[in-house]
Amino acid sequence: MTSNPLSPLAKNDAAKGPSSPSRHWRTALIQSQPQVPENFRSLVPAVHRGSTVTFNTVAEAVDDWHVETSGYTYGVYGTPNTLEFAKRISEIEGARHTFLVPGGQAAIALIYFSFCKAGSHVLAPKNIYGPSGELADDLLAGLNIEVEYYDPMIGSGISSLIRPNTSLIWCETPGSVTFEIPDIPAIVFAARERGVLVALDNTYAAGVLFDAFGHGVDISMQALTKYVGGASDLLMGTVSVKSEQSYERVGSVHRLLGLAISPEDCALAHRGLQTLGVRLAHFERSAITVAKWLKARQEISLVLHPAFEDCPGHEIWKRDFTGSTGVFSIVFAEDWDAERVAKFVEALQTFKIGMSWGGVHSLVMVYSTMTRHGHGHRLIRLNVGLEEAEDLVHDLEQALKCAATVTA
Ligand SMILES: *Cc1c(COP(=O)(O)O)cnc(C)c1O
Repeated sequence: MTSNPLSPLAKNDAAKGPSSPSRHWRTALIQSQPQVPENFRSLVPAVHRGSTVTFNTVAEAVDDWHVETSGYTYGVYGTPNTLEFAKRISEIEGARHTFLVPGGQAAIALIYFSFCKAGSHVLAPKNIYGPSGELADDLLAGLNIEVEYYDPMIGSGISSLIRPNTSLIWCETPGSVTFEIPDIPAIVFAARERGVLVALDNTYAAGVLFDAFGHGVDISMQALTKYVGGASDLLMGTVSVKSEQSYERVGSVHRLLGLAISPEDCALAHRGLQTLGVRLAHFERSAITVAKWLKARQEISLVLHPAFEDCPGHEIWKRDFTGSTGVFSIVFAEDWDAERVAKFVEALQTFKIGMSWGGVHSLVMVYSTMTRHGHGHRLIRLNVGLEEAEDLVHDLEQALKCAATVTA
């Protein structure tokens, strides 16, 4: 093809460009080395985008996820800002290392794939986070990994369920939706005697209100999606490990599964982390105000909030936790049918119907069909946000009034 000498494109092709006599401007588009002053002392960590990193020598060019010793080798294994943020979480949790993953559910999957293989037996509480149970009953069952469910209040009785092929014991405190507080030290003691690892879903406590490693847990995960993110605009999870052995195992499986996260999400999670302290304090106060008000109403038969005596394991919560948060459930009186509960939930204005929790908005969710619990349609979960508690109480009050018009 002969180029048209009159075409501006052809002319541009031939020109080296205005700034450099030695190379084409198209090369300069890519291989520029602008000099800027160093040491930009921002209060905010930099966001490093990057998949590929470059090496000075052939010997340095290795595919190794141990970034701490091998240096940066590939974006999936860590960038300065993903590693920096992971270290902040490790420091707070007292972990050897924290791995970042795209969400809480991915953290659960990473733990399963790290410590189980075909033929493994796993113990998980009956009240476990719903999708975690679905992962067990579907994908893992198909891979010949058997997950057996135990009563979350089992304590040291877990011992009799441990088999020679038990690879992992899951705990969650408090339980999703029903808020039972298990005796984790008792479970850990029984597990250690038999050499079984204990993994904890520590999302409720945001990694701060319950000291997972201090209570002997081996692997702790969180959905940062909830309290650390804190604004309903982020999905991220963490897996924190205490031992060198778990670090090696989770690190290699993390690499094999390719669980990369975005640096921008990391920056958002870091922003959330800095305000976690004040948000948690506010959630605790506000949720207790709202829960106390509900507790006094004759329409409500149970308040499933760790700081209330109705909650199974309340004494253990007092022993093991340093606080409560903004999420709890209530159970309506026996004469409340599903229609009246739905009327109540739909009459709420400030509480929006929505999954998840931990953000600034107050939320409500029904769980009649979603999880295995004994309260049926009479249980709903509330997430108290940062709105004024008095307004939340008014909202609940008007919705109760509305629901009263449903004739049983
Ligand atoms: C939300 C949640 C998860 C899953 O987190 P995602 O980021 O939504 O995948 C796991 N465990 C608990 C207790 C949760 O509340």
